[in-house]
Amino acid sequence: MAGATLRRDDGESMGFRDSITDEIQCSRCGERRDRSDVDRLLWCVGCRVRARLIATRRARIAATVLAVIVAGYIWGLIRPTDVVIGGWIATVIAAYWIGGRLAREIFYGIERSNRKRYPGSGS
Ligand SMILES: [Zn+2]
Repeated sequence: MAGATLRRDDGESMGFRDSITDEIQCSRCGERRDRSDVDRLLWCVGCRVRARLIATRRARIAATVLAVIVAGYIWGLIRPTDVVIGGWIATVIAAYWIGGRLAREIFYGIERSNRKRYPGSGS
């Protein structure tokens, strides 16, 4: 009886220790985070948000370049008349929007597979 009680006390202390070791070091910034805040690639929430922002910024540039190329192609080669100009503007906007979304996913994927840590963060 006494042994069982002692065992349970040990279990509780073990449980308390487990809650401390439940922290995982983020593979990106090196900061220790709660297990629930870290995904399967051992990235913390902050690093994922940061990677998203980087991807979005790069995608915006890529989409702008794409839109300029499409616009240049339309205006330079197709030479739209005033009647259909609205349709071509919509095409350029669509190219910018779809290209941006696609590029953001690609850049995010690149950023995620990038093993290097963010400069200046962590130890
Ligand atoms: Zn992190």
